[in-house]
Amino acid sequence: MAKGFYEIPLAENEPILDYAPGSPEKKELKAMLKKLRSEVRDIPMYIGGKEVRNGKKVSIHPPHDIKHTLGYYYTSGEEEVKQAIDAALEAKPAWENLSWEHRASIFLKAADLLAGPYRAEINAATMLGQSKNAYQAEIDAACELADFFRFNVQYMAEIYSEQPESAPLIWNRVEQRALEGFVFALTPFNFTSIAGNLPTAPALMGNVIVWKPSKTAVYSAHVLMKIFKKAGVPDGVINLIYPSGPLAAKVIFSHPDFTGFHFTGSTEVFQNIWKNIGDNIHKYKTYPRIIGETGGKDYILAHKSADPKEVATAMTRGAFEYQGQKCSAASRVYIPSNLWDAVKEHHLAELSDMKMGPPEDFTNFFNAVIDEPSFDKLASFIDRAKADDNAEIIAGGNYDKSVGYFIEPTVILTTDPHYITMEEELFGPVLTVYVYDENKFDEIMDTLDKTSIYALTGAIFSSDRYIIEKATKRLRHTAGNFYINDKPTGAVVGQQPFGGARGSGTDDKAGSKINLMRWVAPRTIKENFVPATDYRYSFLDEE
Ligand code: NAD
Repeated sequence: MAKGFYEIPLAENEPILDYAPGSPEKKELKAMLKKLRSEVRDIPMYIGGKEVRNGKKVSIHPPHDIKHTLGYYYTSGEEEVKQAIDAALEAKPAWENLSWEHRASIFLKAADLLAGPYRAEINAATMLGQSKNAYQAEIDAACELADFFRFNVQYMAEIYSEQPESAPLIWNRVEQRALEGFVFALTPFNFTSIAGNLPTAPALMGNVIVWKPSKTAVYSAHVLMKIFKKAGVPDGVINLIYPSGPLAAKVIFSHPDFTGFHFTGSTEVFQNIWKNIGDNIHKYKTYPRIIGETGGKDYILAHKSADPKEVATAMTRGAFEYQGQKCSAASRVYIPSNLWDAVKEHHLAELSDMKMGPPEDFTNFFNAVIDEPSFDKLASFIDRAKADDNAEIIAGGNYDKSVGYFIEPTVILTTDPHYITMEEELFGPVLTVYVYDENKFDEIMDTLDKTSIYALTGAIFSSDRYIIEKATKRLRHTAGNFYINDKPTGAVVGQQPFGGARGSGTDDKAGSKINLMRWVAPRTIKENFVPATDYRYSFLDEE
């Protein structure tokens, strides 16, 4: 144990580099993109610190250039899933007994490696593997993940330092034990930062991890694993495998040592897994923690007092950055009748200025969607809108998968506030607008509240303070992250803790103390300095 109460360096948000013409970061990133494109990476699983190459080889292609091969990974079978669990359990005693300041050091070092020598590689891998432009990769893979590491370390120290009161002759302490067993981290494709945070947040608190990334994000996941190893995460503490989701679920959720599930992804997958865990509850040694951040149908609501240009730009950025594949992306918008013409004019002008193409060409704001199933799903909703009487496509509407999975930023105008694309999460560059009677603001708030199962992010635009207060109260349960006169995306770690309730998740706020508290089992220790030696209490005496 430490011979000192060490203080953590105060966490600060990693500054975002701007990749301006001629900047050193732009040169370095371009050189890294070229290098990665010229290589074919052979990506192993990492089990107990060993590189494992078994099973079927699967090729990896940039979503915007599907004929190019970036590398290969190996699909894990049942045997590798079991090995990963065994390796995690073997690593557990040493890891959970390591003093907290050494766990802190490892993840502070990971932040500095990520923001320094690995910055270009993690950004380039995210750009190529997940089709993100340089800015979207920078704010995600480099900055947000470095923020997760640094702020989580600070929150861990705060959690450990929160101690109960003591009384005369007694000293009370609380020890934040790691959970008994192993944690399963199941991560989505759309944020490299989330893929990095879900295994490391529980690991920081002393837990051991089996990690399965999305198959469309293996390419950046293996760069993360290299960083974890370089930072000193011991063998077996984080085990990276690539089974199919259902296979992983079958083995992991029936294991008696399964103790926690850290998930970000779609609502349907989360709900099915919750059921699976429930069905197996009698098998576990301890009640598992289930933490999931899931889907969204995020909104912008403009009041008649709003500035139309501000609303229009929030729509452009909020709906179409990273092709609308952010869980927080605006996908339904309610515009008052008095503002619609001005909002439409500015929004469509901005969209017509936006270039679509591969992220290696830095002039492209807009890149490809993640894979063919996503492309086909989005195309089918666009075709449906073209055919439906109550919907009209006012921007975009074209798609092409001959070179990559490109879907134009598409805006649907509907006359039905319950039109399917106002309700269902599509997870792509499709925004639906409903124009309401400017004098029916209360009614539209009721409609908005009852339209979708989700409650992740939402934004109100108004210049009227009474309206802002009214909407903030009335829409309390419609979003876990609520924005006033701002787009509903772009939450920053340490500033706007992120997560939603209803169908959007357990609202355990990634990158916050609330989340880290879920990865510990507190033990209360009471020490009595002068124990009693007589069973009788004073009240037993009459005089
Ligand atoms: P997804 O649900 O398809 O996949 C998430 C993970 O689950 C992947 O690793 C995938 O391989 C795995 N998986 C898929 N089917 C499975 C099954 N049957 N059994 C076990 N595992 C399975 O999600 P995605 O497409 O990677 O990500 C997009 C979704 O994530 C969207 O719904 C989005 O809203 C959500 N998301 C939410 C947040 C948030 O903070 N609320 C953040 C990012 C993404």
